[in-house]
Amino acid sequence: MKNLHPYVPGEQPKDRVYIKLNANENPYPPCKQVEKEVCKFIKKNPMKLTVYPDPDSNELHEAIASMLNKTGGVLCRAKVDGKNCEPAPEDKIPFIVTPDMIYSGNGSDEVLSFVFYAFFDSDTKLVLPEFTYSFYPVYAGFYNIPTDIVPMNSDWSLNKEEMLSRAKKNNSGLIFANPNAPSGIALTREQVKQMLDTASKDKIFVVDEAYCDFGGESCIPLLKDYKNLVIVRTFSKSLCSAGMRLGYIVADPELVKAVTTVKNSLNHFPIDAIAQVAGKTACLNPRYYAECAKKVVHERTEFQKFLKDNNWDFIPSSTNFVLTKKPGISGQEVYQRIKKEGILVRHFSTPGIEDYVRITIGNEKQMLALKNAMQKI
Ligand SMILES: *Cc1c(COP(=O)(O)O)cnc(C)c1O
Repeated sequence: MKNLHPYVPGEQPKDRVYIKLNANENPYPPCKQVEKEVCKFIKKNPMKLTVYPDPDSNELHEAIASMLNKTGGVLCRAKVDGKNCEPAPEDKIPFIVTPDMIYSGNGSDEVLSFVFYAFFDSDTKLVLPEFTYSFYPVYAGFYNIPTDIVPMNSDWSLNKEEMLSRAKKNNSGLIFANPNAPSGIALTREQVKQMLDTASKDKIFVVDEAYCDFGGESCIPLLKDYKNLVIVRTFSKSLCSAGMRLGYIVADPELVKAVTTVKNSLNHFPIDAIAQVAGKTACLNPRYYAECAKKVVHERTEFQKFLKDNNWDFIPSSTNFVLTKKPGISGQEVYQRIKKEGILVRHFSTPGIEDYVRITIGNEKQMLALKNAMQKI
């Protein structure tokens, strides 16, 4: 207990209504069908709340697989016309994703916890980048998994060569987010493939695609040839459902079984019955979420133009957030001054990143308010 360092989430204040651009949540509501199906479930089948949910979440896993096949795992590039949704040619998955390749849980945070327990151990140092999702070191601490933390390149990209050489030396697995957070930088699928070619085939290689729908390249197509690859994804960002707590992995069925074994040895019930309905319905409506992702990408482009025109430094982003700083002003002060205008952004006091703020892309109106606040700085 004394050695635990729990994750600190973005603040969710109750004293004042802020525009929330601090937790990479989606500014758009879930689609109408989700609202309808959830209400219908409760009204029509209240007795379903008295019984345990489907332990295998079968319908949800079928819907997730179907969505991935229809979008290629990159919503913002999916082609939507009429009633159809299909992947952009470069995102098309060269095989059919099947439900036995999916494991789901209460947010990808819970899913990641089981992935850590199932695949990493206390004898080998897990390799991860210095700046990435800050929950990874928290889980490593919880499960007593030693870590080997690799500094970023000076342009904030991942130092792939160093990560691989340390993984080889430690004979260990590795984990990173792609696109990465909080940099917003994405590796191409080809770059990840080259890493997988070098990495040990019997150590687990985890790619967290929480932000992939906003402009990365999904590594799902690589699952065909790399059985040690685990891809983690979430409904919290691109599927407008952070409050629902839904996350999943896509991986070889053998690895899905391993994670399921871990899960069933702790709390063997899956996500709740309402979340299963909401998640399934969201996945059956990829066109709506593709439109949301396209709007986010549009606002991001506009925002990056604004940053450039107003002399803010930033890292071009493939996600729904941008890491930015104003030369000469501390990140803490920028955060405070934007907060005074009624807008929350994220500031990290970690050395190396303390000059920056991480700003989630909101809707048009929120971004207008943000730009007004930033112009005063
Ligand atoms: C937001 C985020 C998560 C957590 O998602 P939940 O499904 O809400 O638990 C996981 N990984 C990364 C990189 C994230 O940014």
